[in-house]
Amino acid sequence: MPAISPNKPYRVGRSRTGLGLFATKPIKKGAKIVRYFGPLLDSKKKKDDAIENKYLFELNNRWTIDGSVRKNIARYINHACKPNAESDVSPRKRKVVIRAIKNIEPGDEINYDYGTDYFKAYLKPIGCKCDACEKKRKKQRAEARAEKARLKARAEKKALRKAEKQAAKAREKRKQKLGQKGKPGEKLNGKPKPVNGKRLNGHGAKSAAGKVASAKSGILLQARPSRESRASA
Ligand SMILES: [Zn+2]
Repeated sequence: MPAISPNKPYRVGRSRTGLGLFATKPIKKGAKIVRYFGPLLDSKKKKDDAIENKYLFELNNRWTIDGSVRKNIARYINHACKPNAESDVSPRKRKVVIRAIKNIEPGDEINYDYGTDYFKAYLKPIGCKCDACEKKRKKQRAEARAEKARLKARAEKKALRKAEKQAAKAREKRKQKLGQKGKPGEKLNGKPKPVNGKRLNGHGAKSAAGKVASAKSGILLQARPSRESRASA
């Protein structure tokens, strides 16, 4: 770990991605935190242009700061998509200062946005590990889990409905079979069939009595004409 004066409001410490810069004192919004410095590289010089590392800070088309030197404490500051600091660039002065854009509390990690080019080249391929992106991933994972659970519950409900339908169908089939085999006029629930019921009580008895009465009257009718025929004769 690099030696940092205790007067400074930060220290180097362990972060999610390795090392990072953390506030040790409150840092006010707008305050300068640390300068990003190192040798200036001139893109017009072949030797300078050939240098490649993760700490190159491009000021403009021509000038780039090589921040890979150990003394450059700012190189410990990690990227964040929703940072609490920014890189304040003065291309004319060829100077970069990291400045707070929010009030930073002791213990907070200091971050700034490295910019689109760096993000595309170094962070996108491995996945950005900043708080905002981790939160986003967590939320997406939770949503995916919830969606999976929802689909599973729906499938289970569907299977249950299907099983109930099949059971009802089987019950109906069994009922029909028993109905064909059983005594006529008898249903499974014990109630007699209405047609047979009519014969066994009420109208059935009346019609039977009617038959007897008509038979009796037939006798009378048969007797009467003989008397009449006798009288007419
Ligand atoms: Zn991010």
